[in-house]
Amino acid sequence: MTLVCVKNVHKAFGTLEVLKGIDLEVGQGEVVAIIGRSGSGKSTLLRCLNQLEKHDGGDITIAGKCLDGDAMSPKELSANVGMVFQSFNLFPHKTVGENVCLAPVVVRGESRRDAERVAREVLEKVGLSDKYDSYPAQLSGGQQQRVAIARALAMHPKVLLCDEVTSALDPELVGEVLRVLEALAEEGMTLILVTHEMGFARDVADRVVFMHQGRIHEAGTPTDVFGNPKTAELKQFISAVL
Ligand code: ADP
Ligand code: MG
Repeated sequence: MTLVCVKNVHKAFGTLEVLKGIDLEVGQGEVVAIIGRSGSGKSTLLRCLNQLEKHDGGDITIAGKCLDGDAMSPKELSANVGMVFQSFNLFPHKTVGENVCLAPVVVRGESRRDAERVAREVLEKVGLSDKYDSYPAQLSGGQQQRVAIARALAMHPKVLLCDEVTSALDPELVGEVLRVLEALAEEGMTLILVTHEMGFARDVADRVVFMHQGRIHEAGTPTDVFGNPKTAELKQFISAVL
């Protein structure tokens, strides 16, 4: 079943055309890794998927509902699409538990009691059940990023978007975050990840999408994309990053 459908999506900032007609279908439970050089439009594509940026043209459909206009309310959108960023963006003066409970209570109107129960579940899932009452500053970067993932999961998204979620971490903390994502993938979570972790893309993604200058330049299985790149641009990118 197709969960995310992107058809001929365009986005410009002023005269700068950043997305020049993106077509992408992501099935339920699929893991798609988006790779490509800095400036190729990867973050903009993810931001259009959760409407942090409004696309100028084309259609985006998530779980059968079009994102254009007011077809999907912010509440509905937040129930469908979760996002985790490079910077963890936790509220520093709130505990881990409060950070995770906030959106379910404020956006979805869940009771505090229900939100707390879900918060404990998702924190357990990311291996941080013992940090419920800690403050972000008391955690390592890897732990903070796992809290950010738990916070996204607390909204029960149908798809989780991850934009370079390990790029701000010290190298020794990258693995713990990737392992959480891998476990989510194994559980059947639909994931769209922008990543520089080529090993992770190769091992965990069902499909790898290479973006270049605002277009999907090449896409395929990890074996195709890494083992048998067809375009000069992808060959060059791979030789630069591997
Ligand atoms: P990537 O994530 O692949 O590095 P981005 O999607 O962040 O690429 O950016 C693509 C291009 O769009 C870059 O040239 C960037 O400077 C530009 N851009 C991104 N966001 C904005 C914005 N809000 N306003 C103006 N230009 C932007
Ligand atoms: Mg980016």
